[in-house]
Amino acid sequence: MSELNLILLGPPGAGKGTQADRLRADFDLPYYATGDILRAAVKEQTDLGREAGEYMGRGDLVPDELIGKVMLERIDSDEARDGFVLDGFPRTLGQARELNDALEGLERRLTATLLIDAPDEEVIRRLSGRRVCRDNGHTYHVEFDPPKNKGFCDQDGSALVQREDDKLETVQHRLEIFHEQTKPLVDLYEKEGLLRHFDGTRAPDEVNGHIRATLATLRLEEQL
Ligand code: AMP
Repeated sequence: MSELNLILLGPPGAGKGTQADRLRADFDLPYYATGDILRAAVKEQTDLGREAGEYMGRGDLVPDELIGKVMLERIDSDEARDGFVLDGFPRTLGQARELNDALEGLERRLTATLLIDAPDEEVIRRLSGRRVCRDNGHTYHVEFDPPKNKGFCDQDGSALVQREDDKLETVQHRLEIFHEQTKPLVDLYEKEGLLRHFDGTRAPDEVNGHIRATLATLRLEEQL
């Protein structure tokens, strides 16, 4: 079976995490999300977490030097031998170059970059209404998926809070950064023929169906 080395690209809140969960289930691939890795490091107060936390709270990108090593170690691990799904990395042209060089060094290459796109207004509505439970991170939305008991998690009863970087001004800032620093990757991967587009405003099942069909075609092409 050929490798499936995938990048999920798109603005924050476009549904990359939701699609990643399904991809993992469908294709049994390890999933590396820089946001999750960094948030865990902040919680555990590791050196990485202490340095990254300040940038994250402001909605700024963590410097490339801090991120690259963390991700490349994972790609070069046993569990990622048959492929991986990257979410949130690369996010700058510098990180894309670093990833490309590392893959070349391993004599591997990207299979595809899946762009899940959504307009800014939709992203703002989704993220600024998101709430997570303090104890276990279960996710709700004040408008689209409210808990039965306002302000508390249905599953464990803990208080629901807003992530610092989901506050309106921070979401707007994250979007600016996406347009300035991450959008250039769309052009890069388009030029390389690796980009596949998906409409993140569609229902998650529909997006998943499109992604599965695309990956099935890619695999067939690789085997020809
Ligand atoms: P996310 O959950 O992917 O939106 O990431 C949350 C925050 O983590 C971002 O706003 C950045 O501060 C930081 N972050 C995640 N991935 C990267 C990356 N590849 N490069 C720099 N900073 C990142």
